[in-house]
Amino acid sequence: MDRCTLKAYAKINLGLDVTGRLPNGYHQVKMIMQSVGICDELTLEKTPEGLSMTADSEELPTDESNLVCKAARLMQETFHIPGGVRFHLKKRIPIAAGMAGGSTDAAAAMKGMNTLFRLGLPDKELMELSVSVGADVPYCILGGTALAEGIGEKLTPLPSPPACRVLVIKPDIGVSTKYVYEHLDAAGSLNHPDIDGMVNALKEGSLQGILNRMGNVLETVTVPAYPVIRDIKEKMLSAGAAGSLMSGSGPTVFGIFTDQERARHAFDTLKTEAFSAQIFLTTFL
Ligand code: ATP
Repeated sequence: MDRCTLKAYAKINLGLDVTGRLPNGYHQVKMIMQSVGICDELTLEKTPEGLSMTADSEELPTDESNLVCKAARLMQETFHIPGGVRFHLKKRIPIAAGMAGGSTDAAAAMKGMNTLFRLGLPDKELMELSVSVGADVPYCILGGTALAEGIGEKLTPLPSPPACRVLVIKPDIGVSTKYVYEHLDAAGSLNHPDIDGMVNALKEGSLQGILNRMGNVLETVTVPAYPVIRDIKEKMLSAGAAGSLMSGSGPTVFGIFTDQERARHAFDTLKTEAFSAQIFLTTFL
C-alpha cells in the first residue's frame, strides 16, 4: 500500500475541570472527552524521502509547525522509517476552536504511518509516544468517550452517552488556549463541575444525569471576554437544546438535542444569525 486516507474526528468536552497546577506550569485537568461526527480528512502518500504537506485551508501552516508534520517527524525518528510521506489535509474542523483539530490531525498522521509502513504498533504505544506532540493527541488516537486526567493524557474509556443530535457553532473569533489558562489562574474562586458524577451518569446511561452535570470551568475566563458565547448558549437553549456548553477553551459552543426535528429547526434558524460563522449538525460517535 502506497497511499491511505483517514478521517480525523473532532471532540467536544461534556465536562471540563482544572484541578491544579504542576511544578512545570502545566495545568492538571479532569475532562470528559467526546468524539463527534465533524472530521478532517488526511491523505498520506509514500515518497522516497522527506516530509511534505499541503492543505486546502490557507489559514493553516503546512511547514514543520503543523502538528501533522511534528507527529510525522516523531514517527520517522523513533521508528527509523525508511522513506518519506506527502500529506494532504482537507480541513473541515474549525481552527483554534476548542475541538482539538490539530491534535486529531496529528493522531491521524501517526495512525496512517503505522499502517502505511506496516509498523504493527498497538494504539497504546502510539498513545504513549504522542503526548510529546500534544496533551490531547493520545485521546484523539483512542477516540470515543473518555475521562482524561493528568494533563489530558491519562485516559479511561467510558460508555458513549445515549444517542443525541449535537448542534455545534463556532463564532468568528479565535481564542488562544494559552490566554485562557493564564487568566484562569487569576480568576479566583471557580465553579467546579461534578466530573465524577458525570462518569457515573455515563456508566448508568443516564442522559439527564449527564445534562445536569455539564460544566466547563474555562467558561469563567472565555465567556466574559467574548459575550457572544453566552448569546449562543442562550439561543441554543431557547431553540430547544436540552443542554449547551462551551467546548475546551472555546469559542465553540455545542447544544445537545434529544429531538431530531427540533435540532434541525434550531440549525435552520441559527444558521442565519451573524454569530454562526461555522455551524454543524452532527452526532456523538
Ligand atoms: P484544542 O482543543 O486542543 O485546544 P483547538 O481546537 O483550540 O485545539 P487547533 O485547531 O488545534 O486548536 O489549532 C490551534 C493552533 O494550532 C492553530 O492556530 C494552528 O495554527 C496550529 N495548528 C498546527 N497544526 C494544525 C492542524 N493540523 N490543524 C489545526 N491547527 C493546527
